[in-house]
Amino acid sequence: MIYIDGTTLDTLGRKSEYPIFLTLGNIPNLHCNLPDAKVFIGFLPHLTTRDNKLRNSKEFKQKQRDLKHRALKYLLGPLLKEDGIYLAVNGKVEHFTIYLSSIIADMLEAQDICCTYKSYRTRCPCYKCLMPGDQLNNMNIKQDMIDLRNHENMQEAIASHNAENYSIHEYDNFFWNFRIMNIYDAAALDHMHLQEIGLFPYMLDYTRGMLMHQYGKQIISKMDNRLATITRFNNLRILKKGYQQGTKFTGDSNLYTIASCKNLIICYIKFIKMYITSRKKKFNEDDLKIFEREIIDWSNDFVNIFAQFSSSGLQLPKLHMWRYHTIHTIRRYGALNGLTTETYKTLHKNWIKNPYRMSNKKNTHNQMLKTIRRQIITNTITKKTISLKLNSMKSLLWELPISEIYTFQEKLKHEENINELCIEGMEHLIACLDIYLDDISNASANEEIYLKIYANGTLSNGEIVYATSKFHGYARFSDVAIAMGDTDYLTDGGLCYGKASINVN
Ligand SMILES: [Zn+2]
Repeated sequence: MIYIDGTTLDTLGRKSEYPIFLTLGNIPNLHCNLPDAKVFIGFLPHLTTRDNKLRNSKEFKQKQRDLKHRALKYLLGPLLKEDGIYLAVNGKVEHFTIYLSSIIADMLEAQDICCTYKSYRTRCPCYKCLMPGDQLNNMNIKQDMIDLRNHENMQEAIASHNAENYSIHEYDNFFWNFRIMNIYDAAALDHMHLQEIGLFPYMLDYTRGMLMHQYGKQIISKMDNRLATITRFNNLRILKKGYQQGTKFTGDSNLYTIASCKNLIICYIKFIKMYITSRKKKFNEDDLKIFEREIIDWSNDFVNIFAQFSSSGLQLPKLHMWRYHTIHTIRRYGALNGLTTETYKTLHKNWIKNPYRMSNKKNTHNQMLKTIRRQIITNTITKKTISLKLNSMKSLLWELPISEIYTFQEKLKHEENINELCIEGMEHLIACLDIYLDDISNASANEEIYLKIYANGTLSNGEIVYATSKFHGYARFSDVAIAMGDTDYLTDGGLCYGKASINVN
C-alpha cells in the first residue's frame, strides 16, 4: 500500500512536499497503525511557479500530471516485473511476490493519479464512478445503478476521443498496466480527509449557517465567545477557519424550513455513532450491514437538514464518496484506518518537518534524504554499541593473489554491470591494505597473500551484510553504522555511517 499526502515544511506553509510512504497490506491492522510499520520512500516531484497565469494554464497542469506519472512509473515500474523480489528476512533470503493493493491519498492526489477532472462542476466529478455531478447529493441511488470506472471503459473513452464526457484527461494512465488492480478502485481517500477534515467541518459550517439564519449574527458571536473560553487541553480541536467565517445567505428567508433543535441533535448523534463504527479495526459482513445503515441514515438527515444552506445543494464529492464507496472499499481493502491522524503527524514530523528544519534551507531534498538515511540506520541498530563478529562469508565473487590487485582493479573498471560502489570499495581496500601490510601485520614481503571477495557476510546476530552488484538482478550494498574507537573522526555520538562496499577475507 502506498500513501501520498502533501505536507507543509515550515510553520508558515510557504513550502510543501509530497512524501510517499509505503506499508504492507498484510500487516495486521493493529500494527499498521504504528509509525514504524511505514517506510518513507521519497518525494513525489512537483512543478512550481510564481507566475499565477502560468500556474492555471492547461499546459502547466499537463506537464505537472506528466511529471507525477513519470515519477510513479519509475517508482512502481519494478512491480510490473513478474519475477517478484528477494528480501532478507531474519538472515534468510526469501522470494516475495508483491503487488500494489491500494494508494491512500487526499482527494486532489487521488484525482491526479486517476487523471480525472478536479472541478466539482464537471459531468462526472467522482474519480471512482460515472455519477453525474448533479446527482452527488442524491442519497437514494441503488448501488447497482452506479457505473464504476475501470481500466477498460476509461481506455475506451480516451481511445474514442470521448474523454471529456467522462471528465477524464486524455492521458495514457501508467496504472492501466497493472492487471490485477483497478486504479479507480484502489485509489482510496484516507479516513482523515473524508471525515475529520471533510464531512464533519462541513456539518459544523452548515449548522452555523443555519443558526445564523434563524437567530442572527449575535448567536454566532455568543457561540464563538463560549468556545474561546474553553481552556486549551491536549487533543482539543478548534476548527479555526470554521469559526471565523459565517456562511452568507441571500434570498427569501421564508424559503427555508426551520430544522427543529431535536432533528439537529439527532443528526449529530447519528454522525457520532457512524464515526465510532468507522474507526473499527475489523469488519465482518454483519458489521458492514450495520455500518451501511448508519451511513444511509446520517446522510439522509444531513441532506434533508442542510441542503438548503449549501449553494450547491450539498453536491459534495466527499459526501457521495462516503455514502456510495466506503462500504465497498472496506470490503475490498479492509478497514482503512491503517493511517490515522496521529500516524500522519508523527510520520510528517519525523521524516519531513524535522529533516527540513535541520537543513540549511537550500537544496533541501538532498540534505533531507541524507538526514532520513541516518535516522533509519540509527533506528535499526541498537543504541547501545555491541560488538558483532562476522561469522561467515558466502557467495565468493573473486579470489586473487594480492600481487594482482592493480590488474584486477583495472579489469573491474571496464566490466559491465559493476556498481560504482564496488569500484570505490576496491580503491579503499588498496589504500587500507597498504597501511595494514606496512604498519600492522607481520607479513613478510615475499609471502603471497590471497584475497577472497564475497557477496555477503553473516554477522553474529544473524544480520547479513551485502556488498554486491548482483543480488537477484539488483545491486545491494548494506547500510552500516560503525562505532569508532578513535576520536579523531567527526562522529554522531561515536558512530559513523556508510555503506558496505566490499566484503573481503
Ligand atoms: Zn462515485
